[in-house]
Amino acid sequence: MPVDHTKTIIELKNISFAYQKEHVLRDINLQVHLGDYLGMIGPNGGGKTTLLKIMLGLLKPSQGSVCLFSQPLDQFRDWPKIGYVPQKAVNFDANFPATVYEVVAMGRYGKRGLFRRLNASDKKMILESLRQVEMIEYKDRIIGDLSGGQQQRVFIARALSSQPQVILLDEPTVGVDLKAQEAFYQLLQKLNQKLNLTLVLVSHDIDVVAHEATELACVNTTLIYDKNPQDFLKDDRLKLLYGHGVKYILHNH
Ligand code: ADP
Repeated sequence: MPVDHTKTIIELKNISFAYQKEHVLRDINLQVHLGDYLGMIGPNGGGKTTLLKIMLGLLKPSQGSVCLFSQPLDQFRDWPKIGYVPQKAVNFDANFPATVYEVVAMGRYGKRGLFRRLNASDKKMILESLRQVEMIEYKDRIIGDLSGGQQQRVFIARALSSQPQVILLDEPTVGVDLKAQEAFYQLLQKLNQKLNLTLVLVSHDIDVVAHEATELACVNTTLIYDKNPQDFLKDDRLKLLYGHGVKYILHNH
């Protein structure tokens, strides 16, 4: 079935947020459409993680509203539709006593309820998710024994196992070596293009994200850029904001 790219699945209207008195986010308006691969970039401390948590209902904005799949967030119940790979999901303690299979199985409980036994269709979906990220042969390994890149793939599988329509990823390549990062971005392309999954990727790696994502949002308290990635590096407004040119901040924060 073709993807309806005009369908809005996440809508933020006039979002402002403060942890204490100082505003971390101010008056943000942003839409994520079905099939988008949105790269959310910006300087460290600019509010990206905070905005992601607001999208997920983990933080309540001080002003503004969030709609998920056309429903106001406080009425939204269909959480299995939304996968989340939080920051620092990788670097599991080597002694953490769970297998890869068990970690991915955790993603099914959101769909089943915490105290239900997983049935045959759950098990099938867990294995299918592991196949999608090419980690099936690791299913009985202890999660802590895997490399950062392999662990990250397992966390993607965990998010995939609830059969979401959108996955939000927060700095997923931190702690992952360069070669594994490349393979990881290829995996994200596959999920977006072949499985039609909508992706929201928070990253400080502006250069990579500007080449991978189909949409770009740059957050630094306010939304300072919300357009296509192609125009991004040409945008004088942005260069003005960063002073030293965008290339400079790519590698210096
Ligand atoms: P980014 O993801 O762009 O690096 P964050 O959303 O993590 O930015 O943080 C935005 C700002 O909010 C930063 O100045 C950070 O120090 C502050 N901040 C983040 N989390 C908390 C918290 N739990 N309590 C107080 N301040 C916080």
